[in-house]
Amino acid sequence: MHYVSTRGQAPVLTFEDAMLSGLARDGGLYVPETIPQMSAEDIAALAGLPYEEIAFRVMRPFVGDTFTDAEFRGLIDAAYAGFNHDARAPLVQLGQGHFLLELFHGPTLAFKDFAMQLIGQLFQAALKRRGERVTIVGATSGDTGSAAIEAFAGLDNVDVFILYPHGRVSEVQRRQMTTPAASNVHALALDGDFDDCQARLKDMFNDFDFRDGVKLAGVNSINWARVLAQVVYYFSSAVALGAPHRKVSFTVPTGNFGDIFAGYIARSMGLPIDRLVVATNQNDILHRALSGQGYHKGETIPSISPSMDIQVSSNFERALFDAYGRDGKAVAQLMEELKSGGFDISQGAMQALREIYASGRVSEEETSAQIAASLKGTGELLCPHSAIGVKVAEAHLDGATPMITLATAHPAKFPDAVEAATGVRPPLPSRMADLYERPERLERVPNDLAALQAHIKGKIAG
Ligand SMILES: *Cc1c(COP(=O)(O)O)cnc(C)c1O
Repeated sequence: MHYVSTRGQAPVLTFEDAMLSGLARDGGLYVPETIPQMSAEDIAALAGLPYEEIAFRVMRPFVGDTFTDAEFRGLIDAAYAGFNHDARAPLVQLGQGHFLLELFHGPTLAFKDFAMQLIGQLFQAALKRRGERVTIVGATSGDTGSAAIEAFAGLDNVDVFILYPHGRVSEVQRRQMTTPAASNVHALALDGDFDDCQARLKDMFNDFDFRDGVKLAGVNSINWARVLAQVVYYFSSAVALGAPHRKVSFTVPTGNFGDIFAGYIARSMGLPIDRLVVATNQNDILHRALSGQGYHKGETIPSISPSMDIQVSSNFERALFDAYGRDGKAVAQLMEELKSGGFDISQGAMQALREIYASGRVSEEETSAQIAASLKGTGELLCPHSAIGVKVAEAHLDGATPMITLATAHPAKFPDAVEAATGVRPPLPSRMADLYERPERLERVPNDLAALQAHIKGKIAG
């Protein structure tokens, strides 16, 4: 199994090297050269299996010979052992033909744990074997950072630095990043917004002296291994609702396009997915793009769904790569245009995207109203991101195809927004009830590449 860059100018890599490097050296993102197929019988055979076994069968063909079967099974088991629900990703019914996939039973209460817990295990196993140490730098709008710090804290072969926008993450998100005591993890509060964090991260990857000097590795959703881990719950949930004998659709609260792109991979592998519906908040670049208005950056406006406050959606590049017939040159050209504000999507590519994706946008007021309506109608207390998914999904129910909406975080991760909408303050699960008492540790950093690089080098040396 080989991985190629979306910009066509970087070396072709194995799974292990694509995972450990994150961003390709031509600035592109790694994607599999070909997509392994699962037949209807393969998919039917997943029915009733434990989540970990489904994970093994779905991901195995992508991993090549990086891990033996026994090793890979062990790593998957270890990754999900810390989840608080035996089903890992349970489905609940919201209404006629509408289901909620609860992806918030991991250690940091958001779906990011599905990928991060696994790649913590995969990184550790691969680095140990190589006798190497790497520096992981990540950018976060809140949930990636907490999931990464939780997954990598205390591991021998990695130093982790997480850039988050100072003052723009929820208190629970911040505390999940700043309270782990392990000395190999660092929460960096950057003076800027999430797009600044993501831009500085890309700058670091494009500075090859720095990149090679500190052995930089990335665990943002641009890392292929993260996308791969998320493919699994599309299979487990679709099969629970009757796939491959019945089609299903998914609605996904979307920011960086990683989670929904995993659904596209599941579909490309043979899972009968009818539509993949992108749900955005007021930062709606993806909704505008999929509505035919081109891909043009706007200003990021802070919202009550901060994990989706994104105007440059990294993984959309992977979707464009396929929509443009895997033409790396064309993608590189579009990304060049993006630097000066944006680009229009060709007619052919729009047609390809529209066959797969639909979209909707939800305002702040509508988000709050949906949180209240869901509590009243179903007893479900939704986080704002999940509420955006439910609202958009309801507009796309067609009466025939079951719709699965991804619940991306636990309501207790965003208690202020949930309380403002409902009057109910969602309590933290008991295993993390003392989060507000634990001491915090964070490092303030400027929105400046050279200063950041010096800071990171200093911490590694110390
Ligand atoms: C990260 C995140 C999202 C967006 O996921 P993408 O893969 O970036 O599209 C949505 N909701 C929550 C709670 C998140 O943490």
